Amino acid sequence: MGHRYLIALGSNRRHYRHGRPEAVLRAAFGALGRQPLELQAASPIFATAPLGPSRRRYANAAALVETALAPDSLLDHLKAIERAFGRRPGGRRWAARVLDLDIVLWSGGTWSSPRLTIPHTAFRQRLFVLRPAAALTPSWRDPLTGLTLRQHRARLTRPHPLPIAPPGRALSSVGRATDF
Ligand code: AMP
Repeated sequence: MGHRYLIALGSNRRHYRHGRPEAVLRAAFGALGRQPLELQAASPIFATAPLGPSRRRYANAAALVETALAPDSLLDHLKAIERAFGRRPGGRRWAARVLDLDIVLWSGGTWSSPRLTIPHTAFRQRLFVLRPAAALTPSWRDPLTGLTLRQHRARLTRPHPLPIAPPGRALSSVGRATDF
């Protein structure tokens, strides 16, 4: 029986052949479409300008994949793809993180093994994961919070509304500032 997985893709290094991070992710979509995986949908690729002292540009995307592999076997397969993107011809490793692949959600709900936790523990705080993921499958629900990916994204992007005090009443009488 096939399982569906939502995979987060990230790159912030050039690949000696594919080139810039965006091109690395396009090539990674190809790898996610080869047996034993079937690529069902690919998100747009989001580019993030470098922040702070780092001069590296990030590219992020998400993929919807179907496969008979159980979660730990899929993790092994994704690690093999990452390694394949991190090697020059001849087998010498040249850059540890040309490609990062994480399992965000799967059709089986939650999963916990010594090596793997699904949902991915950090995805709710990461806009670079939620933007592409919500663009791809906006109504997929996080089994732990019940929130959809669209709602998780909105929590990070929507500015908090300012509390509006009714006329003549102090703000403190309508609620604590943290309620808003
Ligand atoms: P990172 O270097 O941040 O990509 O973490 C990689 C390691 O995190 C992997 O070797 C996994 O054993 C572990 N891990 C735990 N949960 C997940 C997940 N949902 N997707 C991918 N890796 C995970």
